[in-house]
Amino acid sequence: MEGQIEQVGVQQACENHPCDAGSCGERAVAKLDMRAFCLDHFLSVSFQEIRAHYDGLKRQPYDSNAMASFRELSSIWAREAEKLIEDANSADEETKGKLLEALLWISQAGKSLRRSPRVPTAIGVWLRREDTRRTWEEDTWTRTVSRHGAGFVCRHPVEMGGRVVITRKDKAMRAEARVVYSRLNADGRREIGVEMIDRDNFWD
Ligand SMILES: [Zn+2]
Repeated sequence: MEGQIEQVGVQQACENHPCDAGSCGERAVAKLDMRAFCLDHFLSVSFQEIRAHYDGLKRQPYDSNAMASFRELSSIWAREAEKLIEDANSADEETKGKLLEALLWISQAGKSLRRSPRVPTAIGVWLRREDTRRTWEEDTWTRTVSRHGAGFVCRHPVEMGGRVVITRKDKAMRAEARVVYSRLNADGRREIGVEMIDRDNFWD
């Protein structure tokens, strides 16, 4: 019974979402970073992106934001893969074997990346969400920053893909950003990660 409920949940989540890979258009079975994938493309395109991301991390100097984003993406990928493996009707045994192999790779990759403490970069900001139904603004600070984005503690729920306006308190600079992840951290506080839309190097 539990399995059935879970399965319904997975299908509903992706219902009416065609696969976003190229012009595929097959029914999507998994969602990752605001994109939906059919089973084939989840295993090929989406997994390849994670591997490429990992290779990039290995090649470049340590970047805590890129590292956090890799961990976030790979854990979402792993969660989606686990759901597909548990769902009796989602895939044949061979495909499930591939999903398992990919999960194993992700777990190894996670272990092989050295754990460096994130350098906290606290810049005070106003975070504003303009929505036709509910506009809010809150006073917060960055936890991590990079050239193209930042991570914040955020008290309001905000969906992936949502847009927010960020104003730096120290310089009165404003920029629009897109939410790329939203999750509860170990302290039960919501953390969101954003990607700047029209600004490069907003944080100097
Ligand atoms: Zn597809």
